[in-house]
Amino acid sequence: MLRHREIGSEELVHHFADRIDRQQDLNAFITVDIDHALQQARIADKLLAGGSPPPLAGLPIAHKDIFCTQGMLTTCGSKMLANFLSPYDATVVRRLKDAGAVTLGKTNMDEFAMGSSNETSYFGSVHNPWNRDRVPGGSSGGSAAAVAARLVSAATGTDTGGSIRQPASFCGLTGLKPTYGRVSRYGMVAYASSLDQGGPITQTAEDAALLLQAMAGFDAQDSTSLDAPVPDYAASLKQNIAGLRIGLVSEFFDPSLNPDINAHVRAALSELEKLGAKLMDVSLPNSAAGIPCYYVIAPAEASSNLSRFDGVRYGYRSKSYVDLQTLYENTRAEGFGAEVKRRILVGTYALSSGYYDAYYLKAQQIRRRIADDFSQALTECDVLVGPTTPTTAFLLGEKTTDPVSMYLDDIFTITVNLAGLPALSLPVGFDPSGLPIGMQVIGNYLDEGTLLTIGQRFQEVTDWHLRAPGEVA
Ligand code: GLN
Repeated sequence: MLRHREIGSEELVHHFADRIDRQQDLNAFITVDIDHALQQARIADKLLAGGSPPPLAGLPIAHKDIFCTQGMLTTCGSKMLANFLSPYDATVVRRLKDAGAVTLGKTNMDEFAMGSSNETSYFGSVHNPWNRDRVPGGSSGGSAAAVAARLVSAATGTDTGGSIRQPASFCGLTGLKPTYGRVSRYGMVAYASSLDQGGPITQTAEDAALLLQAMAGFDAQDSTSLDAPVPDYAASLKQNIAGLRIGLVSEFFDPSLNPDINAHVRAALSELEKLGAKLMDVSLPNSAAGIPCYYVIAPAEASSNLSRFDGVRYGYRSKSYVDLQTLYENTRAEGFGAEVKRRILVGTYALSSGYYDAYYLKAQQIRRRIADDFSQALTECDVLVGPTTPTTAFLLGEKTTDPVSMYLDDIFTITVNLAGLPALSLPVGFDPSGLPIGMQVIGNYLDEGTLLTIGQRFQEVTDWHLRAPGEVA
């Protein structure tokens, strides 16, 4: 509609501003800056009128508050960064801006992206628009709630162990975690650097392709960025899936799998079969080790990354200190929330002399085996599938007192990050209480294109992605 001048970007910004205003109870945003968005929209409208606009000209999006934005707060969901203004834009932010997208604001998230429910945010929990008593998933819960409630056209997220796919699944959306290194981490506040990856949270696979096209590509400012050509994802959307070999991961379809989730994922697979795909069984024998392996490696990296928040250089500084030691101690004691402290303690422990070999090194060895399992399975088939999550959206408060039960929610997503592979979550139905169900499709390294092809073909024959939650006035 923007392209055909059926609507202007300025008008769209007003439309979303009004929706954001009416659904403030979702708590999806940490920062909304409509004046700034309107300025960008006016520029976009001129470009659109001029005839050769950049690909996303005038499209209002939101960024997870983990991406640094010049001139707009970047809090990472933490008291530690509650007043932090970054002097520069993250590469993802800059690229989307260069592509013409308009930034409406920054979305709520678990503190430092640690969580699966958005309940660890210093700025309060986000509510799931499908049922406000339930979590939207995490850690990109604000982005998912905002897109699901149609407060914005699309949003960015980051995925260290599932934080794009799991909230996408809980909110009935399409979420794409790219291959590690495909999207620059420059300016993305680091949680676990060997696992973190930015990507889009959108209504459709087509939207995900549009956003990924702008976000992806080599960045000299990220030393782990992959210097590989970025394919034309619009072309991927036109491919077909005849003869595509889809591997059903037997460990993911365990007999204890929730029957509603099982039924809907299997129904989605028969749609893909009708489109010519071939289904087969595959095994990832070390899957069960994924959670313990991740919850050693991710906290270890986090404990190192978060050492920079000491009250000296930037962010929160305690008012009560008598020397440098108490400045560090009080700043970190007051600035970090409970889950972040738990991760720093676990990570520091795992890296300590004497425990390093027993925990960290062992976890690294298991990580290699998990990656090898995927590589083996992906010689037998082209993509792997399973449910995105073991349950649909749980109740707010249901798991906050039991961190391990919260960690177990990542069981199907976490191994993908350990291997560095790309994966897409697609909406495939609803449980009997009306909560969305997601299916995860895992691809080979750098093969986001095939995932988008599958998403597009599936969304042409189904309408789950078009369902929207009702509005509570
Ligand atoms: N739930 C996982 C964690 O708490 C994953 C979070 C993420 O992907 N950022 O670490």
